[in-house]
Amino acid sequence: MTILINFHGNLRQLLPPRFRRIPSVNYRLQRQASIKDIVESLRIPHTEVGRLLVGGRDVSFSSLVGKQDIIDVFPHGRFFDVFHPTSLRPAALVDLKFLVDINVGKLASLLRMLGFDTKYQPLLDDPELASIASRERRILLSRDRNLLKRKIVEFGHLVREIKPLNQAIEIVELFALRDKIRPFSRCLRCNGRLREVAKDKISSLEPLTRKYYNDFKRCTVCGQIYWPGSHRQKMERVLAEIIGERNE
Ligand SMILES: [Zn+2]
Repeated sequence: MTILINFHGNLRQLLPPRFRRIPSVNYRLQRQASIKDIVESLRIPHTEVGRLLVGGRDVSFSSLVGKQDIIDVFPHGRFFDVFHPTSLRPAALVDLKFLVDINVGKLASLLRMLGFDTKYQPLLDDPELASIASRERRILLSRDRNLLKRKIVEFGHLVREIKPLNQAIEIVELFALRDKIRPFSRCLRCNGRLREVAKDKISSLEPLTRKYYNDFKRCTVCGQIYWPGSHRQKMERVLAEIIGERNE
């Protein structure tokens, strides 16, 4: 039995090379399979799919495919709206939280720099990553297609860019985060929230830092102190690249 699958938009670039230049894939079905299994056997993790139609009707990932079905597979629309329930993801997210895989590890501090809740524990293996993403309802960011194909991963993204800065821009654009950026609100080391702290409450400052700076923030979790010194200037340059303008 052969079914016809149309891959739309940028999904085609994820297909095996021999399918990238043709409009539709003729897929030989050996046994009854869900649409998720079929799409993923063509190397596209379900996290990349924004809409699935069979014969023009919206279906879910678990739908079974029958004879002579025509399937349309779409990427996320203008952006991936994780807060809006869809046929594919009926339980929308309430908060925006990320989980970063080690193969895109540098994204963690960049996303934290932008103020986004980003968990990063480099020693976790794939089953643990998938399970945390599912349990804590975090968006799993990775370059590992097999990790993202795991069924319990509801929200995720196959990161396409190679350079960390470009990856951060990719995430900001995909999830439409530009208006949600809150620079210098989260600890780069541990993801804890930062609070302003009076200078005289900090005992560990170098004399010159104490003399020249007045605005300090402290991580509410690990206690790390942040101030507008050289570290922050470097961060501002990075931010300017990501959001296209200088902050503050
Ligand atoms: Zn911290």
